[in-house]
Amino acid sequence: MTAVPEAVFEEIEARAAGVPRPRIFVLSAAAGAGKDSVLAGLRRRGVPIHVVVTYTTRPQRESEVAGVDYRFITREAFERLRDNDELLEHAEYAGHFYGTPKRPIVEALARGEDVILKIEVQGAATVTRKVPGVVLIFLSPESLEELERRLRERRTESPEQLQRRLAAAGRELARIPEYDYLVVNRRGYLEQAVDQLEHIIAAEHCRVNVPPIRL
Ligand code: 5GP
Repeated sequence: MTAVPEAVFEEIEARAAGVPRPRIFVLSAAAGAGKDSVLAGLRRRGVPIHVVVTYTTRPQRESEVAGVDYRFITREAFERLRDNDELLEHAEYAGHFYGTPKRPIVEALARGEDVILKIEVQGAATVTRKVPGVVLIFLSPESLEELERRLRERRTESPEQLQRRLAAAGRELARIPEYDYLVVNRRGYLEQAVDQLEHIIAAEHCRVNVPPIRL
């Protein structure tokens, strides 16, 4: 019989014993694609994920809770975090700055939890370059018309902001080929999108040759 490397047996045993092998998932979507709804769906099903609260310099919306949806900070505070190397990535989007803190990622991974980064395409590209083995998932509505409808229904944007966000959405959809997975969140079929996300996470836990995560 062919000699099986010791590392292979160790891996089989670790998986049989359910030793956590947490991963980092990036979830990108055009604004209004339903990211928060699918993540809420995953939580309802008890999928153990840690969604990282990121920093932004944009003003807080009425529906948002500081520290839960974002850490809302000034431009100066943002620049300090960036200069102190506390951000894994940062990007400018629709005239505001956004950035992902490293620390909560390190802490969640240490607890054995999968990490979800809800970030846009430039950030996704940075993270995948810096951290091999990150899984990139894009969540999309079924059409640009549907996206526009959702944004209008949300009523959080001025007409000018809405146009800016729609233009940004087009640019984002064009970058879907850079992603590993595409999940379409069709109106009225949220649970199907949640199913697909859950299955992607499960499949990624069966993957072999995952590089160790170093931030
Ligand atoms: P919004 O202003 O609509 O909440 O977010 C605008 C976009 O920025 C969304 O695509 C959101 O996922 C993304 N975003 C939120 N936090 C971060 C971050 O820390 N880094 C990057 N690159 N994008 C982020």
